[in-house]
Amino acid sequence: MTNLNPYEVWFLTGSQHLYGAEALRQVAEHSEAIVAGLNGSGKIPTPIVFKPVLTTSEAIQQVCLEANAAPNCVGVVAWMHTFSPSKNWIAGLATLQKPLAHLHTQYNQDIPWAAIDMDFMNLNQAAHGDREFGFIMSRMRLKRKVIVGHWQDAEVLERLAAWTRAACAWRDAQGAKLARFGDNMRSVAVTEGDKVEAQLRLGYAVHGYGVGDLVAVVKQVSDAEIDALIKVYEAQYVMAADLRVGGERHHSVREAARIEIGIRNFLQAGGFKAFTTTFEDLHGMAQLPGLAVQRLMAEGYGFGGEGDWKTSALLRAIKVMSSGLSGGTSFMEDYTYHLNPNGMKVLGAHMLEICPTIAEGPVSLEVHPLGIGGKADPARLVFNSQTGTAINAALMDMGNRFRLLVNTVDVIPPDAPLPKLPVARALWIPRPNFKDALAAWIYAGGAHHTGFSLSLTSEHLNDFADMAGIEFLKIDEDTRLYDFKNELRWNDASYLLTQRL
Ligand code: MN
Repeated sequence: MTNLNPYEVWFLTGSQHLYGAEALRQVAEHSEAIVAGLNGSGKIPTPIVFKPVLTTSEAIQQVCLEANAAPNCVGVVAWMHTFSPSKNWIAGLATLQKPLAHLHTQYNQDIPWAAIDMDFMNLNQAAHGDREFGFIMSRMRLKRKVIVGHWQDAEVLERLAAWTRAACAWRDAQGAKLARFGDNMRSVAVTEGDKVEAQLRLGYAVHGYGVGDLVAVVKQVSDAEIDALIKVYEAQYVMAADLRVGGERHHSVREAARIEIGIRNFLQAGGFKAFTTTFEDLHGMAQLPGLAVQRLMAEGYGFGGEGDWKTSALLRAIKVMSSGLSGGTSFMEDYTYHLNPNGMKVLGAHMLEICPTIAEGPVSLEVHPLGIGGKADPARLVFNSQTGTAINAALMDMGNRFRLLVNTVDVIPPDAPLPKLPVARALWIPRPNFKDALAAWIYAGGAHHTGFSLSLTSEHLNDFADMAGIEFLKIDEDTRLYDFKNELRWNDASYLLTQRL
């Protein structure tokens, strides 16, 4: 799991000298109290750092340059306590390269009816000071998140926490490296895309390797390392006697352990945050990596099957965003349907690679044949998913832009045990309902691979898409198919007109 603690968000307060030194002293005092309140709330995953009140164009540009250069600063929150003329912000905002949230708040929650006078009004005037700030950002066509309400309001904290999590994932993606073992599954379209454009837009680099490069590292794994990992497996998972040490099929588990250690060593040595495999290119590998992928995902690595680097990078971002939250996050595929008119459902799974962070109940380590790939029987973890509200997120290359599509779903228990299904799985009902959700997904060109999370909401992904400047579409309880189809048409026109080349 990624530790978000080294990251920080800077808090910028705008004002001007018009009101005199005493007013500016009070502005600073209030702003510091707000920062202390945000930090004390326990809701924001990183520290918020107070910066001295800004009153000149030079100071604003300077702090924006410093934010750009500060490696741990994931973004800035701005608030105009008084009235900060926005021509002063043009140079700074034009310079700022970090995500921006506009907290439209006020120090006092209530109007002090009996005591209010003109001095109070002139000090507490974010109601119009923040509009001046909003105008210049809209005039400059800047992407930002606007959060409205009192700074102690639980909902405001939730909006800011979601943005902060997205900003951490955005920071994590900049300069990140993804290892791709083998190429794409042959002839599949949706898992393809423009890797140069992805690096420009999303910040991460995709490094391709022949599977032989990985096999060489897997071969170096020692018996002692495997012995140690087998002890971890036996302690953590339900295992049949013939898979345990001394059992008839124990060799399959040892081979899986060897692959896990080899992939981890490869990823650590290269500083990779995500990876892909493909069952079509396993030369020299005894099994398709299943258990290894599952356990590496649980450690925070992004993953995509069949060479799907976009989903792998997206899953890494989702893992960073969900750090420290309950629930769980996994690579996922819409596998098969329950089309009974009394309750239509999606069964999600993959050939092997579902992350055990979403597991509920016992997790069993099993070895079964795999119908494709022509390799030895692979080890995998088998379990049911936790239930509750979740999201499925997919990233597609639409030719002139990346599209991030998110569907909110309700994860439910299976209707009955699935004794013959040898893979981990989740069962859900998509919102607003099965038919409209899936029609919308398919009209949008949504992928069959997704990042699935019981920890996040579509808000996190929306904030992330805005930071990247990519298209964002959501399918949830408010979706109406007619409107959604229009949104797709209008977005096509909008991106033709507004997208830089
Ligand atoms: Mn797949």
